[in-house]
Amino acid sequence: MKNEKSLSRRNFLKTAATGLGGYVFLSPNQTDTPTKTEKKKQKFVYRILGKTGIKLPVISMGVMNSDNPNLVKAALDNGIVHLDTAWYYQHGRNEKMIGSVIKGYPRDSYVIATKIHDQNRDRETGTFTKDATEKGFLEKFDESMERLGIDYVDILYLHSSYTKAMTLHKPFLKAMEKLKKEGRTRFVGVSTHYNEPEVIQAATDSKFYDVVLTSYNFKQDHIEQMQEAIAKAAEAGLGIVGMKTFAGGFLDEEKTKPVDPNAAIRFALKNENICTIIPGFTTFDQMEIDIAAMEDLTFTEKDSKILELGYNSRGGVYCQGCQTCVDQCPKHLPIPDMMRAHMYAYAYKNYWEARELVSSLNVNSGQCDSCSECSVKCSKGFDIKQKYTEIAALKSVPDRLFT
Ligand code: SF4
Ligand code: SF4
Repeated sequence: MKNEKSLSRRNFLKTAATGLGGYVFLSPNQTDTPTKTEKKKQKFVYRILGKTGIKLPVISMGVMNSDNPNLVKAALDNGIVHLDTAWYYQHGRNEKMIGSVIKGYPRDSYVIATKIHDQNRDRETGTFTKDATEKGFLEKFDESMERLGIDYVDILYLHSSYTKAMTLHKPFLKAMEKLKKEGRTRFVGVSTHYNEPEVIQAATDSKFYDVVLTSYNFKQDHIEQMQEAIAKAAEAGLGIVGMKTFAGGFLDEEKTKPVDPNAAIRFALKNENICTIIPGFTTFDQMEIDIAAMEDLTFTEKDSKILELGYNSRGGVYCQGCQTCVDQCPKHLPIPDMMRAHMYAYAYKNYWEARELVSSLNVNSGQCDSCSECSVKCSKGFDIKQKYTEIAALKSVPDRLFT
């Protein structure tokens, strides 16, 4: 059975195809300056974002990891159109920083997506609680608009859903419907980091959503289900945006084996149902690597071999959100979210985002102390107890140390 599975996986990597680049995440506070702006005109590849009709370069910018306005400006000046942010990134400073940049550009020259997050979630049932209200959603949206300094966003996402029930939470659908009618968002979407096929299917069946933002990369064991759900969604007219393309950026725990960015980008974009991806570059060099990937999107045999090695590597930094760990833990700790927070801190060095995520969970640093040995066997080989304890400690770091 094992061979059958890996064979099927291998065939998929090869047949779905339509030197290590050293793309290493750096501190979000790094403020390097562009050095190679006067270079040859880059080739850009565009796709249409489903029924929204928005035409986008296949490379967009996930702004989550950057606090550098010069980098966002360089992205726009170099042809990137779509900027992806969220209400809670960097405690709102991410949206403010973007707002300071876009005020210098005509409104129709860029596409802004933001996301509204609500931490009133019952993680046992995978539902929002009664405290997740329409009013709360609308208030957060108002804050986002004020920070961005614009009258409308292009895409408004419900942030980080992982069940059908969350995706269809009525108060939020009402809020989004209202904002769409008022012209304060052109389109509505849902973002998802795990249990993605269920969320994508729910979004498709709802006939409510216009866009889905989903994790999609070569490390996912459930890539076939992802493809199937995405294909159905695209057929129904939804626009698909891909994220977590680099699966955390490293293949090993020690961060000595960076993911080949070109192979990873080509892997994601060989799925033509994906309109664009939102790599979270934090330096000008990384931006150039990502943009240059459009020169040749042909997924090669060499890419396939590189990614197969990456897929088979154990440990590393990317949690694929399979949730097989949750029931193995007697305390049913929110391990997938905590592993994602660990990736934000350890791989991206985005301590703000990691802390925001940890703070939104009902966790503390002593929860693993009572287990002499962790009973969880992670499908990707993580040492769960070690990572959980490390990242939980972030919750007690005072705010002022982050500013
Ligand atoms: S088993 Fe491992 S990869 Fe799967 S959700 Fe849990 S931590 Fe993530
Ligand atoms: S060590 Fe932590 S994650 Fe592992 S089983 Fe115990 S409580 Fe759960």
